[in-house]
Amino acid sequence: MGKIIGIDLGTTNSLVAVVESGIPLVLADGRGQRLTPSVVRVPASGEPVVGWEARRGRVAHPETTVTSIKRFMGRRGDEVNSNGDTMAYPVHAEGSGPVVVPLQGRDWLPEELSAEILKTLRTIAAEGMIDRPEAAVITVPAYFNDAQRNATRKAGELAGLRVERIINEPTAAALAYGLNSLKEKSKVAVYDLGGGTFDLSILELNEGVFQVLATCGNTRLGGDDIDRVLVDHFAEQIGQEVGPSAAAEPAILARLTEAVQEAKARLSKELKVAITLPFLTPEFSFEHTLTREQLELLAKPIVTRTREYCLKALADAGLASGYLDQLILVGGQTRMPLVREFASEVFGCDEGGPELNTSQNPDEAIALGAAIQGGILCGDFSGMLLLDVTPLSLGIETFGGLMNVIIPRNTTLPVKRGEAFTTVADYQKEVLIHVLQGEREKAADNWSLGRFTLEFEPQPKGVAKVGVQFEIDADGILHVLARDLKTGNEKLVEMSSAVEVDDAEVQQMIEESVEHAFDDIEDRRWIEARLRAKQTTAATRKGLESLGDELEEDQRGAIESALASVESLLARRENGDAVTAAQLREANSKLDAATQPLAGLMMDRVMAEMLEKRGVLPG
Ligand code: ADP
Ligand code: MG
Repeated sequence: MGKIIGIDLGTTNSLVAVVESGIPLVLADGRGQRLTPSVVRVPASGEPVVGWEARRGRVAHPETTVTSIKRFMGRRGDEVNSNGDTMAYPVHAEGSGPVVVPLQGRDWLPEELSAEILKTLRTIAAEGMIDRPEAAVITVPAYFNDAQRNATRKAGELAGLRVERIINEPTAAALAYGLNSLKEKSKVAVYDLGGGTFDLSILELNEGVFQVLATCGNTRLGGDDIDRVLVDHFAEQIGQEVGPSAAAEPAILARLTEAVQEAKARLSKELKVAITLPFLTPEFSFEHTLTREQLELLAKPIVTRTREYCLKALADAGLASGYLDQLILVGGQTRMPLVREFASEVFGCDEGGPELNTSQNPDEAIALGAAIQGGILCGDFSGMLLLDVTPLSLGIETFGGLMNVIIPRNTTLPVKRGEAFTTVADYQKEVLIHVLQGEREKAADNWSLGRFTLEFEPQPKGVAKVGVQFEIDADGILHVLARDLKTGNEKLVEMSSAVEVDDAEVQQMIEESVEHAFDDIEDRRWIEARLRAKQTTAATRKGLESLGDELEEDQRGAIESALASVESLLARRENGDAVTAAQLREANSKLDAATQPLAGLMMDRVMAEMLEKRGVLPG
């Protein structure tokens, strides 16, 4: 088997690494650069320009230079619009279609632009390796959903690579550390603050096996946000000199962005830097001194936002930070001393918490880990397995519009789980399987990953059984199998299309599920009580019609009044009155009690019918 390269396809920077003679190495381009900016310029003619050259050319060609394309991978138009992204290049995002970047008379899909970055990395690898690269392991943020993972896989294929595996970035980072510095049975937190994403994962290493205990984060939080506040801060000052509209020119903002990024990076080592932008406009040159203290003041609110995800992950893992052995920092932004101090404080590293480990280069660890995974897959390393977890719960919609979870959030992958469901209507010819992802009680509040129907043999309701099995493979791709348990007729669907996926912010989902937990539970109880009420009232009406005359006067009266109170609660709620699930449940139980004699009569009738059919008449 040929070599498998490891690729960190980052929002801001990408890297390629490989294992040579048992040693994982980051490969450098012809100029000795190990980082390749994830920037692509599409010129009017000729091949796209990628990396450093594209990044430098951003000032001159802001509208044809694509940055942070990772934000659009596997995303639908409506998701992007609601996220309010504004880019200097055109982005066409509409409805449920994929996001496209119209450039030089052609619509580019995000995976096509990412493929240009991957081609460049493949070339770097081909030049720096002993054997030609054949295949790759590519990393993605832990929170990438199926559509985003699939778009990444597609990008690799478009770049001519066989994608052996898609793995989570924090898991890769831990692998990079795991080889040389973890003792057996350790628990580690990986704090990854890059340009565009923040991930916090808690992993356990036990006898060579990595397991992700919990993962939490925000795909829209990173160093870019710090750059943005710096740019806003200075653009206001510049606007006072040259006028707000001149200061908002894309070329000026691009130059300013470049300058603040450089200043920010230098302030990780120095205490004070000068920002100079000569001839920002023909009449105006900008000059300013920025201190680390000022930078920290502006950056603090952004860095502080990482705290809640750290606490959530600890809670999800059921751990106090004192049980962690190490805290690993990855992502270029963690070079900032403020970030290190903050992370160390959140995890209590100085107060009996985990040891802060920064022994690996923070922007190279992920690529190294991907290369190590590649090495494991092609047999260069052995005895190590990778296990990831589901970031959000997966399930299907059941009657009444409720979410029925099949695989809960934070379940270790790969996983296979099934459940049997019955039908709700008599002689249904098919069932709709609506696959959902999310933490909310109501189906409509979760994300729809796709839907399909399964035809099956019509049978009375409650008799027909449909088995639904969810399988998530090692790449985190979900395969859904639905089977008619009587005939064995089945359908297997891979949840893959970006357009079918109704994705939104994972973090928002989790926050909302916490925020709405109380309402959601009440909603679920109401829906269940209403279903029960509808069933019993219909059955009772039917029973009264056929057997009502055989009931005692007071029995019939009791049933009718219980029936009326259930129906009036339903009607009142429909009119918008405040009726609680508890009230309806109580009315349901009263109706159940009142219908006992009727149920008895119905049973007798059924028995009699059965005996009649057998030709045996009752006494
Ligand atoms: P991504 O994973 O999003 O591709 P990286 O891990 O490469 O990102 O991190 C990029 C971010 O790190 C950028 O916001 C960049 O400005 C920031 N960064 C890089 N070097 C430094 C540094 N020395 N000090 C502070 N921030 C830095
Ligand atoms: Mg990264």
